[in-house]
Parts: sequence; structure tokens; C-alpha cells
Amino acid sequence: SCKHLEQCYSRATCATGITEAYKADKFDRKVNLGVGAYRDDKGNPYVLPSVRAAEERILMKGLDKEYAAITGVLSFTKAAIELAYGKPSHALDRIAATQSISGTGALRIGGAFLERFYPFSKTVYLPTPSWANHAAIMKDSKINVKSYRYYNSQTIRLDIDGLLEDIGNAPKNSIFLFHACAHNPTGVDPTPEQWRAISEAVKSCGHFPFFDMAYQGFASGDTNKDAYALRYFIEQGHPVALSQSFAKNMGLYGERVGVFSLLAESAEEKRRLDSQIKILVRPLYSNPPVNGARIASEILNDLTLRKQWLSEVRGMADRIISMRAALKTNLEEIGSKHDWSHITSQIGMFAYTGLRPEQVDRLAKEFSIYGTKDGRISVAGITSDNVKYLAESIHKVTA
Ligand code: PMP
Repeated sequence: SCKHLEQCYSRATCATGITEAYKADKFDRKVNLGVGAYRDDKGNPYVLPSVRAAEERILMKGLDKEYAAITGVLSFTKAAIELAYGKPSHALDRIAATQSISGTGALRIGGAFLERFYPFSKTVYLPTPSWANHAAIMKDSKINVKSYRYYNSQTIRLDIDGLLEDIGNAPKNSIFLFHACAHNPTGVDPTPEQWRAISEAVKSCGHFPFFDMAYQGFASGDTNKDAYALRYFIEQGHPVALSQSFAKNMGLYGERVGVFSLLAESAEEKRRLDSQIKILVRPLYSNPPVNGARIASEILNDLTLRKQWLSEVRGMADRIISMRAALKTNLEEIGSKHDWSHITSQIGMFAYTGLRPEQVDRLAKEFSIYGTKDGRISVAGITSDNVKYLAESIHKVTA
């Protein structure tokens, strides 16, 4: 936590500082829009009923606490890669995979793998902006970090021309990291048509795509739709690396459930990649924790529970989507003359409002509404009860 609250809060995107400032605020209608986790319509953390049911089943089984294999709980990783890559997929028998410490751990294994085994440029290109931890993870993996244009703050939309130009200008065989869906922090995703153009550009330069999929199902409510980019790239014959997280779509934040996988050219190469991954993981943490992986496995491998889970993911996505719509409608009804269409065209947990730092500051100081300085708000922090107050306050600082 932050000792120097004021100083910490004044940094661009310090979510901890925001939460601290929010906690210290005594106003009864205060709103925390800095949280990076889903909240229900009452503003409370949400444990999915399918997760509770899976936990009960696991308890009934009376399983032991022996170590998992180096690459984790196999029934989990197998089901997780099918969820991502799609089933049936001709690619499934060419995918090397390991359980990971959620998405962060998957990215870190990916960094370590590329640093040791990727034969070409050890430079990864990240979108501007990106999740702040991406650069830190890659730097700690001894991978050089560069950036590609992604978000245009003038249009509050994707800078597709800049993106394609930067892909084309990077040295051949560079590594490109893409958010598979629900880009964090902007909420701006390429359309399927734009993904096809991106795929073509990446392919013609021989770049290596690394997908970070931290929100599968959480963006549109449909796990297949959210996997479009990954699956399209595979159809087009790209090699890929993939980081998966079950923090958001199963609400398993603190259980740390994820998968790192790599698509090989052949079943023979997959076996080589499997053993290279084991060589990396063993000295890092020997083997991953079992509890969260067992929960996810129980859900993914049981038809009834899986169906229930899919409807709960949709429920979370739908609440987010409806809060976006409610915020926009409220702003318009109050008489705001600004174009707020980006609020509903963006997707996932976060919205880039286009608010300037001084406007964000006024929201905090005058209205007790806390978001990050870059204008990012967590839509999960919006509820039926606070959306009108939020819209009125935004209108007052932007009018
Ligand atoms: N990638 C992105 C883009 C994220 O937003 C997050 C979560 N904030 C992660 C990866 C990883 O989160 P976790 O380690 O909790 O799975």
C-alpha cells in the first residue's frame, strides 16, 4: 500500500493509490472505478455459483495433496487449450502446454521461453498503451521491449493504419504481443476484418505472434467469439504463443489459474517444446498449485457445470455491456453534447473515457469518484445505483 497517498495517486495509473484514496474518503456516494476485478450490481466481489459447485464436488472426492506434474493438472490444461483453440481443431495435437501461475505466470514463462529458445530477434513489440505489467515481465525475462501504435487518443479509436505500419517497419521475425480480446486498458479491440489485415501483415514480415488472452468470454459473453483472433491466426498458419488466465472469466483471481501454450509445426516439434518448457519451469517453481486448476478442470470437463459456467460468464459480460449503455444513455439524457459512442463500442472490463487528467482529478476531489489519471475506468465498478451519479459528475467536469 502507498505511504504517500497524494504522491501515489498523482501518478498516472497507480490503482493501489486510487483504492487507498477511495478507502480514506468518507463520502457515502463515493465510487471506486480503479478496481481490476469484477463486481456485482451491488458492488461486491462475485464468486461464480459454478465455482462453488465445483469446490463442493472436489471436497466430496477427498483428493490427496500430492504434487502435480511439472506442467500441472493435465485434465485442466487439456480442457483449457480446447477452450482457447477450439474443438475440433487440427492444431490440438501440436500444442505444447503447461499450467501457469495465472496469466502473469504464463507471460513470464513465455518471456523465459522466447529468451532462451527463440532463434531470431529478442525484441517484443507491445501496443501503446498496454497492461503496465507486460513491459516489466518482458524486461525481467531479458527481452527487449518496443512498442507499436494501437490507440489514437484523438479519435478514441484503434489506430489501425499506425498499427499496420509499425508491424511492417519492425525487423523481420520480431515478436508481437496482442491482446486477444478486451484490450486492457483501452477496451478497444480490432474488428474481425482488422484482425485479418493484422494477420496478413504479421505473416508477410515473419513476426511471431504472442497472444495474451486474459478475458476469454468476458468480453462478448461468448468464449468462441472472443477467441476469433487466435483461431484466425492459426487457420492462417502462424506459429503462436498463448497466455491464458482464468482470473476474470471464472473469477478465480487469487487461485492463480492459467496456461502457457505454444503451437508447434509438427507433433515431433511439440514433444521438443514440451521438454523445453519443463526445463524452464522446474527451476522456477517445480510445479504449480493444484486447487484452482482442479476447480477449472471440474467446470470445463463436466457438461452441466460447463453450461452453467458459460451462462455465468455471459451474465458478467452482459452486466458490463449494460452498464456501458446505461452510462452513455445517462450522459445523453442529462444533456452532454460530447460523443460518448466509444463507451459502448469498447469492450471488456475497462473503458477509456477520453477524460483528461485534470478532469479525472476533479472527479476525485469534487465528486469522490476514483479512476486512473489516463481516463481509464473499470466498468465493473459501475452499478445500477451509482450510474446516474457518475454520469452527472462526468457531465459536470466535461461540460
Ligand atoms: N493480461 C492482461 C491484459 C490483464 O489485464 C491481466 C490482468 N489484469 C493479466 C494479463 C494477468 O492477470 P492474472 O495474472 O491475474 O491472470
